[in-house]
Amino acid sequence: MNRNGIHHVTAIAGNARRNVEFYTRTLGLRLVKKTVNFDDPGTYHFYYGDEVGSPGTILTFFPWDHVAPGRLGIGETQETAFRVPEASIGYWTHRFTDKGVAYQAPVKRFGQSVLSFKDPHGMRLALVGVPGVENEPAWLGADVPAEHAIRGFHSVNLLLAEAAPTGAILTDVLGFREVGREGSLVRFQAEGSDAGGQMGSIVDIHEAGGFLPARMGGGSVHHIAFRAADDAAEFEMVRKLQENHGIRTTEQKDRNYFRSVYFREPGHVLFEIATDIPGFAADEPVAHLGEALKLPDFLESRRANIEAVLPDVA
Ligand code: ZN
Repeated sequence: MNRNGIHHVTAIAGNARRNVEFYTRTLGLRLVKKTVNFDDPGTYHFYYGDEVGSPGTILTFFPWDHVAPGRLGIGETQETAFRVPEASIGYWTHRFTDKGVAYQAPVKRFGQSVLSFKDPHGMRLALVGVPGVENEPAWLGADVPAEHAIRGFHSVNLLLAEAAPTGAILTDVLGFREVGREGSLVRFQAEGSDAGGQMGSIVDIHEAGGFLPARMGGGSVHHIAFRAADDAAEFEMVRKLQENHGIRTTEQKDRNYFRSVYFREPGHVLFEIATDIPGFAADEPVAHLGEALKLPDFLESRRANIEAVLPDVA
């Protein structure tokens, strides 16, 4: 079993209720955790994913009602892509038309169909048609038929001045290898994943040279987390970052559902390394994931105050 790849992607949204509606109803993902930003507990932190919140399926948001929109530029994630069955791209273009979602005509990238679209707060997303994924399990909590449902992440696309410095971190530390080039794109794939690509197994670097730097805001990706099987695997990556690349991470932080370190990679994107353990069933049963507001122990004593300032999203 491949244990490398994307663990989760965290982005900035506007209105919380609108965010929940879009990801659960329009895209048909499961809200697997409703908690707060541990570093700013007056703000929600929503996690969407598959039934159990498997690594490689998890998209998370900090929703801020009056956030200024971000501006695309160098040193950030340009697009976050999900996997859908190859034959489902037509279904999704119709669904987006019906629901008023802004999308572009599908294009081919590395031989696969890519349908780019935006969420209500300007986040750049895509669906990539992948043969064979219709045989993988899907979350069926929404009205998206099983044969068309999203099966986790396909990839992230990083917009960077140059590919090589970030590529070195992906290949030496995070378990990826370069597998192809197309135009200004360099594709990296997690070691041990097949060509079809397991969930979250691809990182594309869009090498753009000189261009305006990104300005983070609504619709921007805040950081990308990569998988480590456990603490030992994570600390080995931390050691390599420091010894081979002179990059120091933060100390390990306990995020309740995984344990993480953070660092700024050479292309200026914020990266995280997150353990696969313990996962989202750590504090509520799988059957009821995402239903109640969950708080880490150190915030439980403040629950009444926190609940009073959070908007109702039910
Ligand atoms: Zn994170």
